Amino acid sequence: MTPIPPSEKALVPFVSVENMMRLIHHIGIEAMLKGLAGYIKADFKRWELFDKTPRIASHSTEGVIELMPTSDGEVYGFKYVNGHPKNTSEGLQTVTAFGLLADVRSGYPVLLSEMTVLTAMRTAATSGLVTRYLAPKGADTMAMIGAGAQSEFQSLAMKALAGITSVRLYDIDPGAVAKAARNLAGTGLNVTACNSAEAAMEGAQIITTCTADKQYATILTDNMVGPGVHINAIGGDCPGKTELAPGVLRRASIFVEYPEQTRIEGEIQQLPPDHPVTELWQVMNGTAPGRTDARQITLFDSVGFAIEDFSALRYVRDHIGGTGFDFDLDLLADPDDPRDLFGMLMRAGTG
Ligand code: NAD
Repeated sequence: MTPIPPSEKALVPFVSVENMMRLIHHIGIEAMLKGLAGYIKADFKRWELFDKTPRIASHSTEGVIELMPTSDGEVYGFKYVNGHPKNTSEGLQTVTAFGLLADVRSGYPVLLSEMTVLTAMRTAATSGLVTRYLAPKGADTMAMIGAGAQSEFQSLAMKALAGITSVRLYDIDPGAVAKAARNLAGTGLNVTACNSAEAAMEGAQIITTCTADKQYATILTDNMVGPGVHINAIGGDCPGKTELAPGVLRRASIFVEYPEQTRIEGEIQQLPPDHPVTELWQVMNGTAPGRTDARQITLFDSVGFAIEDFSALRYVRDHIGGTGFDFDLDLLADPDDPRDLFGMLMRAGTG
């Protein structure tokens, strides 16, 4: 094969897992969580500009594989993501992802990136941002139920974005709690390992559920939730996969990303399709209220929406330049004469 000189190729910057981790350390974990939250907020404020659709899901008995596309008219993005709760028992991740940004005018990709680590960062940044809007005044303690892959990211985002100083951890697997407590040591958070969800919730004004189980689970029963708390329900994000008892939902003011997707995938799949919800973009641009009284239970019914991934990829594109943490991929066939794709193939065979 005759190599084509690099200058003649349309190369696509690629961010590998290793380089994503380098970029996060280069910026700082909490600084990047804040930066991502800023990008997500900016994109939520221009919500109406975006193409929006519930993600395209391919379900199986073991899990789900999803595509999450969106565009602001200038840049197009999508994420490929899976959710397979039983994977961890085989040493695999529950969630893995990668994603792409493209220039709408030419359709050419401008960035390809790993998104397993980036999804954990963007999911945490979104929770932290939403919690800043909805948490009761003076909240300083979070119950973190589910101490898996997302949990430390969620905990640090609450510190960076919502002023949380203490995290109370619970998981059905004590090994997961020990892992998260170990990872969070030295971050400045007071971490308490708890042996039940009820114990984790003692004194917590914020409750984050982030468990993985492909069923209508009841991580929080109605009688566990008192007035005035804010709940982030992160783990219920698929049809037939929820975390909260319907009674909790009926007492809460519910805030969602994109109702058309959340009604399929979120906690509210357990409620009638006309149950009122507030869209978070409207809270962020000031056209809908957030928390209105101290005794209100606020619930962020998080499922993860394409615009958050778009924001995260946009953040990476804007911060990767000059770091050396990307490399060029020969992903696009781009002959000098655009109609001579076949000629390019033939020339490559004569070397
Ligand atoms: P993970 O498998 O690494 O961790 C899940 C943890 O939940 C495990 O440690 C497990 O032991 C624990 N768990 C299961 N049932 C429990 C119960 N009844 N009580 C307490 N703990 C329990 O998964 P992960 O990557 O941390 O993801 C967690 C969840 O978040 C998944 O369901 C995933 O699909 C979801 N998720 C949502 C978003 C979003 O944007 N909303 C983004 C990423 C992941």
